[in-house]
Amino acid sequence: MTDLPSHNRQENSLVRLIHSSAAARIILVLAVALTISAWYFSKQVVQRAEAEQFEILTNEIETAVHDRMVVYEQVLWGGVGLFNASEDVSRKEWAQYVDALDLDEHWPGIQGLGFAVPVDPADLEAHTAEIRAEGFPDFTVRPESERDELTSIIYLEPFDWRNQRAFGFDMWSNDLRREAMTRARDDNTAATSGVITLVQETDDDVQKGFLTYVPVYAGGIEPTTSAARRDALEGWVYAAFRSDDLMEGILGDGLAGIEYEIFDGPDLTNESLLYDSNLKFAVDSGDDGVLRRSDTLEVQGRQWTIRYEATDDFATGAATQLPNVIGIAGLLIDVLLFYVISSLGLMQKRAVTLAQDMTAELRVRSDELEEQAERLNRSNAELEQFAYIASHDLQEPLRNITSYSSMLSNKYGQTMGEEGQRWLGYLSAGSNQMSDLIRELLHYSTIGSESSTPDLVALDDVVSSAVGSLAGAIEEGGALLALEDMPVVFGHVDQLERLFLNLLANALKYRKAGTSPHIWVSAVESETEWRISVRDDGIGIKPEYHERIFEIFRRVGSRADYPGTGIGLSICRKIVENHGGSIGVDSSLGGGSEFWFELPRPAPDRPLPSDSPPTSKLAGSLTSS
Ligand code: ADP
Repeated sequence: MTDLPSHNRQENSLVRLIHSSAAARIILVLAVALTISAWYFSKQVVQRAEAEQFEILTNEIETAVHDRMVVYEQVLWGGVGLFNASEDVSRKEWAQYVDALDLDEHWPGIQGLGFAVPVDPADLEAHTAEIRAEGFPDFTVRPESERDELTSIIYLEPFDWRNQRAFGFDMWSNDLRREAMTRARDDNTAATSGVITLVQETDDDVQKGFLTYVPVYAGGIEPTTSAARRDALEGWVYAAFRSDDLMEGILGDGLAGIEYEIFDGPDLTNESLLYDSNLKFAVDSGDDGVLRRSDTLEVQGRQWTIRYEATDDFATGAATQLPNVIGIAGLLIDVLLFYVISSLGLMQKRAVTLAQDMTAELRVRSDELEEQAERLNRSNAELEQFAYIASHDLQEPLRNITSYSSMLSNKYGQTMGEEGQRWLGYLSAGSNQMSDLIRELLHYSTIGSESSTPDLVALDDVVSSAVGSLAGAIEEGGALLALEDMPVVFGHVDQLERLFLNLLANALKYRKAGTSPHIWVSAVESETEWRISVRDDGIGIKPEYHERIFEIFRRVGSRADYPGTGIGLSICRKIVENHGGSIGVDSSLGGGSEFWFELPRPAPDRPLPSDSPPTSKLAGSLTSS
């Protein structure tokens, strides 16, 4: 067996490795690990993208709230401007200013825009009387209790029923309000209060709120020290905010997928909770993988803390599902891969087992065949040996019978009488026939076992020699022979001579009664072989006997008409097959016979002798011998 090229061997071992069941398991483990990594990393990427998106959106919320509060502050400074611009701002003028702002339309969340003044407790009665005189007989400064300092809301627009609840309210009485009012007054700044519930609130739809104050100083001046500012203070322009209305005005329904809470100050308590975009939203939060962050926002002197949290709606995009899709699809592919590789391995194993079984079976068969062939060879050799010995040893007594019967005939022929002579004749003929048979048998059994070595043989010479051997029979039958040029072949000259001798002898023998036989010997060349034929115009052979006549002892017709042993053609077949060729006959009863045999052409590396006849076929002349 030839060695495979090394790359083929590598490929084969790779294929074997891939087909092994261990490889299938290893590949499964690797593929699952790869899938889990792909799932993990894609999850990381998606989460990072979501976190970035979350930060961008929450920054937008913060900016929106901050910007709106800055703009709202301007409304208050506008009010201050109004006071500074005129000697005295009447209730009507204030109402007109606020009306022009159109709070509902342009400034949602501002419940009211008001003006509160400090009141010396000593002047309280006069103050009350003054306001009452304007057409508000029920006006009082509330809450009514003994206090060192008082303030009073004198204007609050729009002057609707809700705002009227705050009319006259002393905001100084409340700590959170007072803190902002003080800051506004002392620092000449806009100051926002902590979380309060407006006095405008009823029991219905209570919202948290806050107040933003800006100071109005007498004569429109801006004193530079806190003490001077306290002295110069005329009052506060302020806005009352309802935080739900304000925030919804800023952000509408908020941003999809994000909820947020605003606390006043750093403490995240229910008391400090100013706004919650979703009331169900809990203040507490654990480490539950939910996106959340918080930030601080400076609003007119107060720190607001805004906490944001993503809801389930935030991450519903296709990208969010990508890691799961990768994970599930990857696992499916892994399982499929495992299945395919396992099946391949299984199929490979089955194929190998089958091939091994078949190889074992073939080996057994071939061993058996070899044994049989050996037995056959042995028995053939023994048979041939037996036939040779038997025929050889039989020749001797036969020769004795013939010679003794001829001696008998010579010496005692006269005394034997006619009958004795006839019996002696039978004896002699029988022993001659027996001798022929044995000779033929001897020929048959010795074909192929001669010591002669094959060589190039000029068949022209062989045919001439055979014709010479049959000269007597040719002459006796008045036969006409047409001999074409014969080729040179490679073989045993004595066997080839025997072949032609047998075929020519049969052609002479099986002639039609009372006719002179015509015999043609010719050769036709093909690419690989010579086809040589011996044709006659004799009695012919029925097609059903064409095969059988080449078997040993097979004869057709009566022995009396055409004597013979039935061995000649079997010798011919053995000779032709011994030369690597084949033999056959084309014939019909009464139509003559053409016996042909094909012999391989000599190999090109074995040159023909220079004096060999031309290998092309030439028409020969009809020759009579
Ligand atoms: P034998 O001639 O001794 O009988 P062969 O083996 O030579 O034995 O031939 C077998 C048979 O083939 C013959 O008995 C004969 O019937 C037939 N046969 C052989 N050659 C011819 C031929 N040229 N024409 C007709 N019949 C033939």
